[in-house]
Amino acid sequence: MTKININDMLTSYDKKSLTIATVCSHSSLQIFNGARKEGFKTLGISIGEKKKFYDAFPLGKPDEFFIVDKYKDILKFTDELKEKNVVVIPHGSFVEYLGADKFLTLDIPTFGNRNGLLWESDRNKERKWLEGAGLTMPQEVKNPKDIDKPVIVKYHGAKGGKDFFIAKTYEEFQKRIKKNRSFIIQEFVMGTRYYLHYFYSPIQDNAYKLSKGSLQLLSMDRRDETTIDEVQRLGSIAELEELGIHPTFVVTGNIPIVMRESLLPKVFKMGEDVVEKSLKLFGGMIGPFCLETVVTEELQFKVFEISSRIVAGTNPYVAGSPYSELIQHDMSTGRRIAQEIKYAAKKNLLEKILT
Ligand code: AMP
Repeated sequence: MTKININDMLTSYDKKSLTIATVCSHSSLQIFNGARKEGFKTLGISIGEKKKFYDAFPLGKPDEFFIVDKYKDILKFTDELKEKNVVVIPHGSFVEYLGADKFLTLDIPTFGNRNGLLWESDRNKERKWLEGAGLTMPQEVKNPKDIDKPVIVKYHGAKGGKDFFIAKTYEEFQKRIKKNRSFIIQEFVMGTRYYLHYFYSPIQDNAYKLSKGSLQLLSMDRRDETTIDEVQRLGSIAELEELGIHPTFVVTGNIPIVMRESLLPKVFKMGEDVVEKSLKLFGGMIGPFCLETVVTEELQFKVFEISSRIVAGTNPYVAGSPYSELIQHDMSTGRRIAQEIKYAAKKNLLEKILT
């Protein structure tokens, strides 16, 4: 649990003049754009120099750049950032570059519940959370000798699916496994992938109601992963593996998608269950989160991962998605985050959505 007290951090803040800040990477263009639409000042933390390509996107560019030599240096400048009434928006790269342990104790008001990180970054805890919520996860194969159907081998702490591989037998596993790296083995689920982007507000009751607060579905995407998603251009996977060419799972982009409408009740039920469980386990997620799922031919969802923050899969929807357009015109996840902060600041509830 974080030792940081949000009320102490906020005592010196001018709550009418908050600045929304994040690290210039991942989904920062959307975060700055959304904050700008809601009237916030924005600050982009950048390494080494201000990123030139932001000049090409004036509506996604932060008002101010805050340059540090390396990510860990952010920790040295927390007082300076707090003087600017900064609220930090976490995203995947921010947490990864700073390091989860440092992020947990970062002395700056941060959107969301940082304690969720302890639950999602540990695969055993993640399983306890998701299965405890009643969701179905891909089966885990504890002993590689028990591999008797296609499995995916995932290394711990791997960045964007790097080095993951498929094995169909124990022999194949032995040939490919990199020694000295910890891993898990999961059943390879056949089906179509949907990455579901939700937003949970613990302080507003104007959407799909939960025991506390309410839930929205803002968008969904499918990740584009090289080389698995285009490997068939060169031949079947079996043919290629004969030649020693193995598909990889490195994320390069995101593709917008909508789901057949009859599945939406299940989507909401899963979102509901995972939030309710998080309330019991660690005080509850806050804001955006994503369930990474495969839908099988029986139309069952298998959930292989959760991220309790904005994910890059929301980036196709800077100007809204087919779902968010049914909530409010022109609302991205970045904008929804800014709206939540604005609402909380107005109602004096900031300590309920920041940690
Ligand atoms: P992850 O790091 O868990 O998000 O996995 C990276 C990628 O591997 C996913 O985006 C999927 O394309 C694929 N993947 C992960 N787990 C499974 C699974 N159990 N079955 C099939 N594909 C998976």
